[in-house]
Amino acid sequence: MKLITSIEDLPPLLAASVTPEEKQYIAAQTGLPFAVTPHFAALARPEKDDPIRRQFLPDPRELLPDPFALDDPLGEHRYRAAPHLVHQYQDRALLLAAHACAGYCRHCFRRVWLASSAASAPEPVEASMADFQPELAYLAAHPEIGEVLVSGGDPLTLDNTALEDLFRRIRDVRPGVLLRVCTRIPITEPSRLDGETIALFVRFHPLRLAVHINHPRELSAAASAALAAGVDAGIPVLVQTVLLRGINDNAALLAGLFRDCLDLRLSPYYLFQMDLAPGTAHFRVPLKQGLAIYRELSGLISGQGLPGRPALPAYAVDLPGGGGKIRLHDNVIAGEKMTDNGPVYILKDHSGGEWQYPVF
Ligand SMILES: *Cc1c(COP(=O)(O)O)cnc(C)c1O
Ligand code: SF4
Repeated sequence: MKLITSIEDLPPLLAASVTPEEKQYIAAQTGLPFAVTPHFAALARPEKDDPIRRQFLPDPRELLPDPFALDDPLGEHRYRAAPHLVHQYQDRALLLAAHACAGYCRHCFRRVWLASSAASAPEPVEASMADFQPELAYLAAHPEIGEVLVSGGDPLTLDNTALEDLFRRIRDVRPGVLLRVCTRIPITEPSRLDGETIALFVRFHPLRLAVHINHPRELSAAASAALAAGVDAGIPVLVQTVLLRGINDNAALLAGLFRDCLDLRLSPYYLFQMDLAPGTAHFRVPLKQGLAIYRELSGLISGQGLPGRPALPAYAVDLPGGGGKIRLHDNVIAGEKMTDNGPVYILKDHSGGEWQYPVF
């Protein structure tokens, strides 16, 4: 997969828009690498605050100190059942199947994990990883797991031979287990979701896609056609959106995005409040503002989406420190207190457990 990794290779207007500060930061090569597909770069406009540009162009604000930042924002290490398997919920497990992505989202919550593996090789590494023996042995020994999320990185950076091999080996140990392929590539490189790939997915039914989409302009003609072809072939497609400051923190814009998804027969699934990954604080929408946006959004779109599914995604956060996902609504905030890092809300989970999330 061809990636743009230097400013000179961006479309000319965009390349000309890169500021000296941005250039200097990109040249310093700290943290998550700069890489974007030509398709996604072509969707960007040269304005500094353009919602597409901001998602892939490194921003010196990534260096701003964030006292709340966590290297493992989801607290996943304690649920690592095997080196590349996270088992946090009884009936679902998440396989880190690939180290690379087709370009890097500046708001990525796996940035520490990706930066450590991708810094030396920003290009996708085909069939990069281990043979998953410990992961498969764990799946074999845990029949309560009914769904395997195939994630990463982006699993569609693997070629179809590697993907098919992986799916087959999962199904060899766990016949009939539901597969959920978590990917952003239908948006960043729609040509990867071609007829052959869709046919591969169909052969591994039951399988669904969870696609990361943040802004209506990401649904290009090519992306829309690829996703609709997947739906036509009978593959359910869920949409996961990250609430991002200055990019989609607007109820009318989000309502438009979810309507566009429904028109393509994609199901809005989650709207995520930002995780506390380092270098991403400038993308964080304050929780109170997120709740207000979500309240307004609920009034803007219909309750009914695709058959059996709501049109409105669940507003949720993966609780910092390993509390898992909780849905966010006004009653979740049980209080507020001051910590060494600054003010935090106290959030209550379903079982009464208390967690913290920054006020700002
Ligand atoms: C999000 C997540 C899941 C899936 O949760 P759903 O609510 O079914 O989308 C499973 N495992 C891990 C570790 C997760 O982070
Ligand atoms: S596609 Fe996902 S894992 Fe990859 S950089 Fe974007 S958010 Fe991170």
